Amino acid sequence: MKIGFIGLGVMGRPMAQHLIEAGHELYLYRVKPVSAHLVERGATACESAMHVAQLADIVILMLPDTPDVETVLFGENGVAPGLGSGKLVIDMSSISPLATRDFAARTEALGCDYLDAPVSGGEVGARSASLTIMVGGKPDVFERAKPLFEKMGQNITLIGGVGDGQIAKAANQIVVALNIQAVSEALRFSSKAGADPAVVRKALMGGFAASRVLEVHGERMINETFEPGFRIRLHHKDLSLALESARLLELMLPNTALVHQLMNGALAKGLGDKDHSALIKAL
Ligand code: NAD
Repeated sequence: MKIGFIGLGVMGRPMAQHLIEAGHELYLYRVKPVSAHLVERGATACESAMHVAQLADIVILMLPDTPDVETVLFGENGVAPGLGSGKLVIDMSSISPLATRDFAARTEALGCDYLDAPVSGGEVGARSASLTIMVGGKPDVFERAKPLFEKMGQNITLIGGVGDGQIAKAANQIVVALNIQAVSEALRFSSKAGADPAVVRKALMGGFAASRVLEVHGERMINETFEPGFRIRLHHKDLSLALESARLLELMLPNTALVHQLMNGALAKGLGDKDHSALIKAL
């Protein structure tokens, strides 16, 4: 297939590479020195997002935030003016569910299809093609894209209609953030009260408190190794998305709001580019 890929950062680079290795023709925009190896492997560097959309049948986005996706899709020399009937846009960034529905409607008005397909699993999951992919869109469009998802991930679920992938991703980020906060409080409590937090963590791993966050981030907290990983800045953005949706829905998310405030504190302390396990420093 002819596939466009825009957003060649920590996640996008390895994801695009898997598609090249699977034999697809890749068209890339904003190739930087760090992503030049993709061109050496046969991908084509394009001069604009519009050029990508003209050459490819399916355009994948892996960009930081909602305004970036809007600019790349609908800005000057963006994807939209390059689209023709029957093409498919897949947004794999983590962005606003509500904006996603608007972007999908504007794309479908051009005779094209749209899926939101945010991921979980981090850089490790992107490199090992084992990402969890949460998809929103029409079932037949999902089936068209599924062979591509299978080259980038393992746990691939059609959640529901367009925007529902982003809702699942926001839900994922709520669970992870609150779990990080719970592990932080438990380990701080243990050490202040005089027990060795490393031994406490090991004991808790065998019981009902066990979690991937206690396992991986608990170890990071004890060793104070906070290089990312997943930056606090990006997780803060994800909780902002959840809280903005909750505000519009008149829904209370008190603990998400609290952890969002603690992340504000972590950003104020200059920890934005540290791993989200560094949230323990806000305590
Ligand atoms: P990143 O900042 O490393 O990469 C983003 C890329 O987009 C950069 O290469 C940047 O140059 C490019 N970009 C920005 N604006 C552009 C434009 N106008 N035109 C072309 N390219 C543009 O971010 P990332 O860590 O790869 O994350 C991407 C998305 O995936 C985010 O929404 C993030 O929340 C989500 N995510 C990240 C992780 C992780 O562990 N890093 C895990 C799951 C989901």
